[in-house]
Amino acid sequence: MFDWLIVGAGFAGSVLAERLASQRDERVLLIDRRPHIGGNAYDRYDDAGVLMHQYGPHIFHTNSEAVFEHLSQFTRWRPYEHRVLANVDGMLVPIPINLDTVNRLYGLSLNSEQLAQWFASRAEYCEEIKTSEDVVVSTVGRELYEKFFRGYTKKQWGVEPSQLDKSVTARVPTRLNRDDRYFGDEYQFMPLHGYTRMFERMVKHPNINVMLQTDFEEVRNEVFYKRLIFTGPIDEYFNFRFGKLPYRSLRFEHVTLDKRQHQPVAVVNYPQTEAYTRVTEYKHLTGQDHPKTSLTYEFPSDEGDPYYPVPRPENAEVYKRYEKLAIAQQNVWFVGRLATYRYYNMDQVVGQALATFRRINKEIPARNSA
Ligand code: FAD
Ligand code: UDP
Repeated sequence: MFDWLIVGAGFAGSVLAERLASQRDERVLLIDRRPHIGGNAYDRYDDAGVLMHQYGPHIFHTNSEAVFEHLSQFTRWRPYEHRVLANVDGMLVPIPINLDTVNRLYGLSLNSEQLAQWFASRAEYCEEIKTSEDVVVSTVGRELYEKFFRGYTKKQWGVEPSQLDKSVTARVPTRLNRDDRYFGDEYQFMPLHGYTRMFERMVKHPNINVMLQTDFEEVRNEVFYKRLIFTGPIDEYFNFRFGKLPYRSLRFEHVTLDKRQHQPVAVVNYPQTEAYTRVTEYKHLTGQDHPKTSLTYEFPSDEGDPYYPVPRPENAEVYKRYEKLAIAQQNVWFVGRLATYRYYNMDQVVGQALATFRRINKEIPARNSA
């Protein structure tokens, strides 16, 4: 008899398993249909011995001290500031677009003030910023939008940026200075020995049983549990009653090269050319010293594992209908990127899981409390 069945051993499921087991002394069965823990953050040593990320590059960044401190119980960290270059007009230039991007692309020597004017003279007035196209053209103008955003976004999402919520391209800022870091967050680190090691430490508790290669369907009527935490796709949980929620997928091509380094930074984006969106070279992230190097090419696709909820108004409407059903469920909690259909980063999922734990504590007395 388990107190909890948790479906999905990614951040959402693993953070909650650990909290319930260690803070409430409750018995947890944590299952995943994949053959490993860690969800999409899973990393492993490939055949050449290079530490790589099976589901594409995962860089930890957050402004939440609470989230950072929480995860710090399970890992030490390697300071790492992420930098990305975009292959545009045959040059490798910084993205987010900054002072150097414009000066190098156009052979200019503007200062920050002049760049602000340069952007202002190109930015298009937009009555209300609603879409992913609006965000960019109202800031830097149409030409840079075409060069950096339109092609990448069409590849990544399969639709025009004008068909996507503004929140998608708004993830990438525009800078007037020379700051070429991809993220501006206060905490930017990689787990020193990788994500999988961190997850192993998180779920290693006598109250937690982990079962891999196990689908919810296989066990839902086979094991006894009092309460359920579901972190898979919410539409799947409800048998697609209101139709399928669209998730964008990726096909990953992993390669190892017989040389020390392939590209100058961890990620190079391809907004204009190629069928893939970006190429990641892991050694920049991990700091690993190895005579070979491993890369991942990301090819977006409609088919395959659900990686990205697609932020569009009509999808939000369908999600709301599922959410209503979810709220009405007794003793079931929906947590994580797929179960709440939100384009969340890792730290946001950890924050959501910790908030769920606080809610559980308020609503349900712990098994062993008087
Ligand atoms: P997941 O990690 O998806 O875990 C859910 C788990 O549930 C999966 O392992 C799945 O197998 C399992 N599952 C689902 N249904 C069932 C079922 N019916 N039965 C059994 N098991 C089931 N975030 C960042 O902060 N920084 C980054 O750099 C970053 N890069 C990313 C790059 C890519 C390519 C992708 C796709 C995501 C990236 N993210 C990044 C986001 C990050 O992956 C997520 O925020 C986080 O992993 C979500 O955790 P989760 O537990 O909600 O979901
Ligand atoms: N984007 C783009 N060009 C780039 C980088 C990002 O058009 O060079 C857009 C694209 O729509 C992408 C979104 O901005 O999906 C968010 O980018 P981010 O790097 O945050 O995507 P993720 O790492 O989540 O895949």
